[in-house]
Amino acid sequence: MQVDYVIIGSGLTGAVIARLLVDAGRSVVVVERRGHVGGNIHDQVHPCGIRYHTYGPHYFRTSDEEVWALVNRFAEFYPFEAVVKCYIDGVYENWPIAASYIRQTVGLHWEPEFRGKPSNFEEAALSMMPRVIYEKFVKPYNEKQWGVPPCQLAADLCRRFDVREDDDPRLTPQAKYQGLPLHGYTAMIEAMLADIPVVLHCDWLKYRHSFLASKMYIFTGPIDELFGYRYGRLKYRAQRRELEYLSDVPWRQPVVQVNYPQHASGPQLRTIEWKHLLPSHYAQRIQGTLITRETPFTPEDPNQYEYPFPDEENRRLYERYRELAEKTPNLLVCGRLGEYRYYDMDHAIGRAMALARQLLRSSC
Ligand SMILES: Cc1cc2nc3c(=O)[nH]c(=O)nc-3n(C[C@H](O)[C@H](O)[C@H](O)COP(=O)(O)OP(=O)(O)OC[C@H]3O[C@@H](n4cnc5c(N)ncnc54)[C@H](O)[C@@H]3O)c2cc1C
Repeated sequence: MQVDYVIIGSGLTGAVIARLLVDAGRSVVVVERRGHVGGNIHDQVHPCGIRYHTYGPHYFRTSDEEVWALVNRFAEFYPFEAVVKCYIDGVYENWPIAASYIRQTVGLHWEPEFRGKPSNFEEAALSMMPRVIYEKFVKPYNEKQWGVPPCQLAADLCRRFDVREDDDPRLTPQAKYQGLPLHGYTAMIEAMLADIPVVLHCDWLKYRHSFLASKMYIFTGPIDELFGYRYGRLKYRAQRRELEYLSDVPWRQPVVQVNYPQHASGPQLRTIEWKHLLPSHYAQRIQGTLITRETPFTPEDPNQYEYPFPDEENRRLYERYRELAEKTPNLLVCGRLGEYRYYDMDHAIGRAMALARQLLRSSC
């Protein structure tokens, strides 16, 4: 098969690039090794009628008008704003941490523990809060999530949370648009790829000679795997997921996501109750509830890669692979696995749009 572009991976990155290239009159084939499109935003409906996300909960939010317009071209969204709680000492507390909780715990005039320029994640977190709060909410959560002491992690990981002066319980109140696709993310990606050839169950690394691109190969899989782990393996963390249908209770937890930072809660890190994601009139009609328990682990199988490991050693290793990719003709490596970077969905879409435009401008 010969086309202008062979796109490897049907996740958000591959699907958005494919769509924009085809809209501009280019020919494209998408090759996907899983049995479904959508990559890590894939979702499905359980026999009890509740939709769940196969690879962990995905809350859509963006302040980018173009990104919002693009997703609305392929899906109707209903409003949804995630609220997350932390189960601490037997009580559901706000996450991100409410300043009122800090005041109750350490007094009205609390000070962060660390001053100066943080050199690692622990110092960065301590520059936001007193030690006792860090040790309840942040330290054990990150020990479970990453499997190493937080002082071994990069400081900029702290950008993913804050202390809420106004106690706002919503996870991302700053985003202009928040919602979920009415018929799910998979249907959204299927609509995006509707008139584009997609080959499922096909690992491009094994069958690459069957697909010829006259202009470019766009690879959205793991960059270390692409080069046969030549310089060694990039480290990832992932979650083991246990899905359970509880037929005899209407609800199990107060919000969609509960985090279990404390080691006393065992190795589980989060529980997700999917019914909270449904429009409320629909949720009320459903018998029972569906939950997922997530427990972190270090994956060996590239199909299970989820979170790039946030430390200096892996960042340097990734840079070596990036240089190799840049020297390889007719190849663009991108997406969360190709760039070894945690992208929220809206950032992945924005990046894919920018890359597609770049390709069209340079007409390669
Ligand atoms: C646990 C978790 C929770 C998240 N929650 C949120 C959230 O709440 N909100 C949010 O905005 N973002 C969230 N994200 C981020 C979101 O998942 C990513 O932005 C998005 O999946 C990126 O899409 P992608 O196409 O770059 O990668 P992927 O979705 O990983 O797509 C890559 C595709 O390439 C395929 N592939 C790889 N190698 C090959 C090969 N050799 N041959 C053929 N196919 C191949 C893979 O099978 C996969 O389908 C979350 C991420 C994780 C890990």
